[in-house]
Amino acid sequence: MVMITGTMVNYFIHCPRQCWLFGHRINLEDNSEDVRIGRVLHELKQEGSKHKEISVENIKIDKITKEYVIEIKKSDADLEASKYQLLFYMKVLKDKGIKRKGKLEVIEKNKQDHKIHIFELTLDLEKELEKVIEDIRLLLLQEQPPQGVYNKKCNRCAYYEYCFL
Ligand code: SF4
Repeated sequence: MVMITGTMVNYFIHCPRQCWLFGHRINLEDNSEDVRIGRVLHELKQEGSKHKEISVENIKIDKITKEYVIEIKKSDADLEASKYQLLFYMKVLKDKGIKRKGKLEVIEKNKQDHKIHIFELTLDLEKELEKVIEDIRLLLLQEQPPQGVYNKKCNRCAYYEYCFL
């Protein structure tokens, strides 16, 4: 079974075609998920919590504190996609006994003010997330990607040339 990642969840909300392309390793981006997993493990150990031995697989997290799992983005152009990515990390951690709220920090280049969004994994959101994960599994079983439909999100997408040129 395909391992679902936070990036896949983000892409699915952003654009199912993007998720399919990424999931089938048509990878036009640098994906340094392994490096980030190492960093999370290190931070968990630093925290000195009773969860020292937990191995966090398949997720990449920018930072974890006693209260929050933190994701840092350069833009909030697709806040919904970032939110579900963060909810996914919260769920993976929760399933391992680590309960955290989610903090999304948007640090835009050349801007002084940082925007902060806080999320909690409510039961309703958890159910929605489970549905998203199931939909991703079904999507990735398809032999062909869904058709790309141009919209303004495409301009910033790494697959733009792949889809439209
Ligand atoms: S360019 Fe547009 S249609 Fe193609 S994967 Fe990206 S967001 Fe989806």
